[in-house]
Amino acid sequence: YCARAGIRSLILSPQGAGGQVSYTNEVENYPGFSGTGAELAEKMYKQAQSSGVIFAGEQAQEIRRTADMWEVRTRRGRYRAKAVIVATGASPRKIGAEGEERLTGAGVSYCATCDGAFYKGKTVMVVGGGNTAFSDALYLSRFCSRVYLVHRSENFRASKVLTERVRACGKILIRTNETVEKIQGETAVKSVVLKHTLSSRISVAETEAVFAAVGREPQSGLVRGICTLDENGYIVTDEKMRTDKPGLYAAGDVRNTPLRQIITAAADGAVAAEDLAQNL
Ligand code: NAP
Repeated sequence: YCARAGIRSLILSPQGAGGQVSYTNEVENYPGFSGTGAELAEKMYKQAQSSGVIFAGEQAQEIRRTADMWEVRTRRGRYRAKAVIVATGASPRKIGAEGEERLTGAGVSYCATCDGAFYKGKTVMVVGGGNTAFSDALYLSRFCSRVYLVHRSENFRASKVLTERVRACGKILIRTNETVEKIQGETAVKSVVLKHTLSSRISVAETEAVFAAVGREPQSGLVRGICTLDENGYIVTDEKMRTDKPGLYAAGDVRNTPLRQIITAAADGAVAAEDLAQNL
């Protein structure tokens, strides 16, 4: 939308294009598309490139306002722009269990799509009660022998359709009202200590992997102190994706929005681009 409006547009993205979409196993709720997140990200990347957008594999380290422009600093230097759209997304939250940090990369994972294939035919555990946990559990159930789905209450945030699919899947064992106290194993995950929230009963479940899907935290550090964030750190915008600083916009999961999906993130970008094109 920016490039098509004739604006010289640069995307700073250190890990290639796509963000969280690239790690999504199956996208089935973006209109007109069906396939993996990586495929969708690649299509979007090519489309943006052919519209004239320039991609730089650099990380924005600082944003600041100068007299008439915004300035974004990266390791290589400084970019000056009339407007900046912050679309830095969100990153996985930690469970907060003993052993989690030590065994990250040795069975503890925050990306089922990336690491699930290592556990073909094995027992694995997914922690969380939202859409990510449920779609991860379904994905893993395709090739793992058993999938524990552990959630700290009986109320799921996951959509009805995913909940029904999980309930109907014979390989997924739902364990509610349980919290992960400790992840055990010398050099790799072997088992997990669970505590029942009502009875305080402790049990041990053997598993070779723990996939944490307990929500995300906004990556809004770049603009902390520059524009207003809500109490959870999400960037506050108006309906045109404007922050409270002129020329500074936010789009996607980093913004305080009631729905965080690919369709809403894409729409946010379009709305922001349209507004900034009119006001440059
Ligand atoms: P989410 O909806 O925020 O759910 C996080 C889950 O983790 C909640 O069930 C929460 O429990 C639990 N939790 C939080 N902290 C925990 C902790 N320390 N220990 C144990 N459990 C903890 O996050 P999400 O599932 O990652 O989804 C994020 C956004 O992406 C949502 O808007 C979602 O709709 C979207 N998304 C959509 C799709 C799709 O449409 N197919 C797929 C993936 C993600 P409580 O409920 O008790 O707080």
